[in-house]
Parts: sequence; structure tokens; C-alpha cells
Amino acid sequence: MNQIKRFYSLGPPRSAKPSLADNVVYGTVEWYDKYQDAELEKVRYEQIKCSLDPRHDRRRRIGNLRLILPTSHIGDFIWTIYSECIVSDRVLNLFKDSGFSGFEARTSEIVRVRRLPKNERDTIPRIWELVTTGTAGDASPESGIRLLYRCPVCDYTRYSSFQEGIIVDAQQWDGTDFFTVKGYPSFTLIAERVKDLIVDHRLTNCAIIKATDLRWGKLPRPEEHPENFIPAEEGRPKTTCQLRTST
Ligand SMILES: [Zn+2]
Repeated sequence: MNQIKRFYSLGPPRSAKPSLADNVVYGTVEWYDKYQDAELEKVRYEQIKCSLDPRHDRRRRIGNLRLILPTSHIGDFIWTIYSECIVSDRVLNLFKDSGFSGFEARTSEIVRVRRLPKNERDTIPRIWELVTTGTAGDASPESGIRLLYRCPVCDYTRYSSFQEGIIVDAQQWDGTDFFTVKGYPSFTLIAERVKDLIVDHRLTNCAIIKATDLRWGKLPRPEEHPENFIPAEEGRPKTTCQLRTST
């Protein structure tokens, strides 16, 4: 048998809600109340338009993050509503000094901290967006994650929900410390040594969950509603029988 590798999800404290995680290895959902999601200011996007189905239209951020923090608390991690991961200078240096791989640090800026006393403004740290670049390819089919649809025109993809958390296929993992699986780019996955470092340093405002303990929560499952993203004219099986309704 192969050596068992443990993989974890590194996410915002709100991902530690009981409906979204069976167990929480580190962090607390209470940090979500204390720090809250950062707001974005003047972010630039490029639009991606689909000529086949306007429901595939989407946008991709091209500018750097400029953040407004909603509370006067500044944690070691900062998260946006889209689960973009931002770290302070100190945390970035911890990661670099540990030789961690699988990420790029993008320039970001805190432009304002609400309710921060004037005399504490010089405590605002330099921050960096941590962009995950490592990959573990396709998640193991046992997780329930599979490609449901790829648009031939705009490359829009939808993957099915996970049933048993995200099960990483160690054969496809590139060995990086920060990585994602296909279909779930906003779920930052980390190797055990990253988890250990975060726990050892008691870094604040994050949640670490075993990847297999992630739970889907109350969101609709895409595989149950293919009509929401597959164009009708693409040969999707038409309803072949009508439900009889009694009058
Ligand atoms: Zn499309």
C-alpha cells in the first residue's frame, strides 16, 4: 500500500461551520464574527462572454486586490467573499522560510480599516494575495467529483459536488504544498507540513479541515440541475415521458 498522505483544506473561518465541515483541525468559526470578510475596492475584471449560452458569461479579475477591512481586527490571514486568500508579510515570510511551494504572492493592499483608531494606522501590515499554483489534477472519483459539462465554445466547465469531501489522488498530486483539484479552484488544499506550521504559530483567522471532512452544505448540487448550465440544444436528453397528473 502507498504511503498515506494527509491533505487539508485551508479556508476562511466560515468554512468551519458545522454544515461545511465534519471536524475542524484548527481555527474557529468565531473568527468569522471577529474579522469578517474583507471588502474589495475598485477591482478590475475582464468579461468572458459565451455566444452559445449567456449563462456561461463570467468575469475574471485582472487587477490586484485592494481591500477594506470591515472591523479593526487584522488577522494573520484575510479572506474575501470569494475565498481569495491574503496573508500578512510575516506569514508570507514564514511560508518562504519553510521552503513551501505551490503559490505565488501577488501585491495587494489594505486601503482602509473601518473603526481603526487614527493612532493605530501605522499597524496596518503589508499584505500579499496567496495565489495557489500547485495541482493535484482530477480529484479521486471516490469523492464524487467528476466533470459534468465543458462548453465547446467558451470552455466553461461544471463539476459535480463532492460526496465524501475532496479526496486527493496522490498519483496526480505534483508534490507542492499549496494546490487545488480541478473544478474547485477556490478550495486551497495544503500538505501536512503547512498545517503544522500554521498550528505551531497559532496563526489567526483561518480554518483547517481534513480535505475528506469537507461537507457540501445546503447549496444545490450541480449534478441534480444540469438544465441550469447545459444548453437545451446540445442534445441533452429530452423528457421522454410526461408525469401524469391527476385532476
Ligand atoms: Zn459557453
